[in-house]
Amino acid sequence: MLKIGLTGGIGSGKSTVSKKLDEMGAFVVDADKIAREIVEPGEPALAELAEEFEGILNEDGTLNRQELARQAFASREATKKLNSITHPRIRERTDELFHEAELEGEKVLVYDMPLLIENGEADRVDHVLVVDAPDDVRVKRLTQYRNLDEKDARARIDAQIDRETRLAVADTVLDNSGDLEELMEQVESFWDEVV
Ligand code: ATP
Repeated sequence: MLKIGLTGGIGSGKSTVSKKLDEMGAFVVDADKIAREIVEPGEPALAELAEEFEGILNEDGTLNRQELARQAFASREATKKLNSITHPRIRERTDELFHEAELEGEKVLVYDMPLLIENGEADRVDHVLVVDAPDDVRVKRLTQYRNLDEKDARARIDAQIDRETRLAVADTVLDNSGDLEELMEQVESFWDEVV
């Protein structure tokens, strides 16, 4: 089974590429989705977070993400605490899914992971696929389709590793500075060449 790590900065087009690869027959493991699942009511990570951070549960027992983010990103120490609770669970679940895909005889696994490089997970995959677009293009899309204002979009981009660092780790780069059709053509060529 070929394991492809799909990554890119915020608003670069990861979800768009992931959807296309899914349609083409890849088994997609969505790290953001898993990160949400492990803090659902009844999950041990949620109980641990509630012990560590005060007032982070809504009345219905679900996680108040905004409040958790406010506390967890207030200091390095708090962020470390958050990660020490969530990261092992995410790792465990992704390992399970990787294993399941292998057992089911899947040919191609796509690990859709925004922080693949930041978290040092590039070595879990055979091929690093980076979706890339200039910062200005991403800001434009994020303000247009995501309801972020420009300042917020730029702040989020600046908080991530820069494009050069990401591109240096890439085995393949999909250039998403053009239209969607151009992006889809690149995904198809990538599939033909690598898969
Ligand atoms: P995030 O990091 O926030 O999850 P992402 O990398 O998954 O973002 P997408 O959600 O795929 O990015 O794309 C961001 C937005 O830009 C979406 O609304 C998407 O439809 C749009 N988009 C992506 N690529 C293009 C393109 N080439 N032309 C026009 N719009 C695009």
